[in-house]
Amino acid sequence: MALVPFDDRDGQIWYDGALVPWREAKLHVLSHGLHYASSVFEGERAYGGNIFKLRAHTERLVNSAELLGFQIPYSVDDIDAACRQTLAANGQTEAYVRPIAWRGAEQLSVSAQATTIHLAIATWPWPNLFGADRMKGVRLGMATWKRPHPETAPTASKTASLYAIGTLSKHAAEAAGFDDALMLDWRGQVAEATGANIFFVMDGALHTPPPDCFLNGITRRSVMALARRRQFQVIERPIQPDEMPRANEVFLAGTAAEVTPVRQIGEHAFTPGPITETLLRDYEALVRLSPEEVERQAPI
Ligand code: PMP
Repeated sequence: MALVPFDDRDGQIWYDGALVPWREAKLHVLSHGLHYASSVFEGERAYGGNIFKLRAHTERLVNSAELLGFQIPYSVDDIDAACRQTLAANGQTEAYVRPIAWRGAEQLSVSAQATTIHLAIATWPWPNLFGADRMKGVRLGMATWKRPHPETAPTASKTASLYAIGTLSKHAAEAAGFDDALMLDWRGQVAEATGANIFFVMDGALHTPPPDCFLNGITRRSVMALARRRQFQVIERPIQPDEMPRANEVFLAGTAAEVTPVRQIGEHAFTPGPITETLLRDYEALVRLSPEEVERQAPI
């Protein structure tokens, strides 16, 4: 399917407080957010008209901005309402939702004290990141770029400024014929894929690295809650790359990837198995519940 460029589509985008026609949602080329990557964003999914874990996403957006030293000039309630309003204006019930906040064009230097903060929200149809074939499992190449030490970058912020590592890693993996990359962290421990967290099934228990230099994903935490409901043991611990071959199953968890089985990491092959399948189905069911029921079944 040919990709329709994002600036050649129609619909409504919420922009600084009001809906504007998609093609008119522009910013000046001298915006600080563009030059210095002073922007933070979210990736959310609507299922059956409800945005899954909307409050948690909005709170992370606000927190991501605070970690970059700026405040989004709207309340969490206002942002939640704006996300719902945009989805409805586009007539969508199944969609990806992308809020983004950035520093404006008032000042263009490393210092950005005079910039004002903008917020935009777009929604568009986006089936799973890995497409229909994902049930067979995706193939991950090992990235050479590392997730940085939390004292070298605001690693808990979903800021554009940290995605260069992901794009470089993803491109290298794709060039080598893989679907995505698995990144290690600055210590050489297993970290995450370029847009999703990773889980290993070892001896019937779920193992996943502690999110101390990458995002503690909302999907990750939801899947952990689902796993505990199933009485699966969940173990957060540092994972060394040489332990990976002993995993019985591997899967990714993220808003865009949802729960996606992994069938290869570098030279190691894995077979998607019953625990991944169970959690994949549980997650598919969870996202279709009412927001109240989601919070009851999978508090994070
Ligand atoms: N890590 C990275 C780098 C991501 O981009 C994402 C997607 N936001 C995640 C992890 C998973 O986060 P979530 O489950 O909240 O979407």
